[in-house]
Amino acid sequence: MSTTPPAPSFPPAEVVDNPSLVAPEPPITPETRAFWDATLEGRLLMRRCRTCGEPIWYPRPICPFCHSDDTVWEQVSGRGTIYSFSVVRRGAGRFASESPYVLAYVELDEGPRVMTNIVDSALDDLTIGHPVQVVFHRAGEGAALPRFRLA
Ligand SMILES: [Zn+2]
Repeated sequence: MSTTPPAPSFPPAEVVDNPSLVAPEPPITPETRAFWDATLEGRLLMRRCRTCGEPIWYPRPICPFCHSDDTVWEQVSGRGTIYSFSVVRRGAGRFASESPYVLAYVELDEGPRVMTNIVDSALDDLTIGHPVQVVFHRAGEGAALPRFRLA
């Protein structure tokens, strides 16, 4: 398995230090370190299988399609469209005081569907298929969460 992050292939997206939606710190493992390091630079990574060519999301070292371990990091554009979304009007835990907020699946231009939040956008403007652009919300010292704004 290659763990080397790719050279930048798209301009960096914004990294917000004081996010508009609470950003819990994710668990970081040796296998996901490069992914989280890239988020702090405004870059979104996925993995791609070099045996079958499929994009892999969530990022993991073994291809879920052909079980190859010949997978590599690849930067994605950060552009996509809303595949599905739900407005959460009664949050729980750390999200209790955040509602309403938006939970969504965004389909990246590269193919994978990513569970995420739509932020900084009027709820009435949300539609399936609407273009979105990634933004990163800093979550502690070692990571920023990829979220999306309407483009
Ligand atoms: Zn594969």
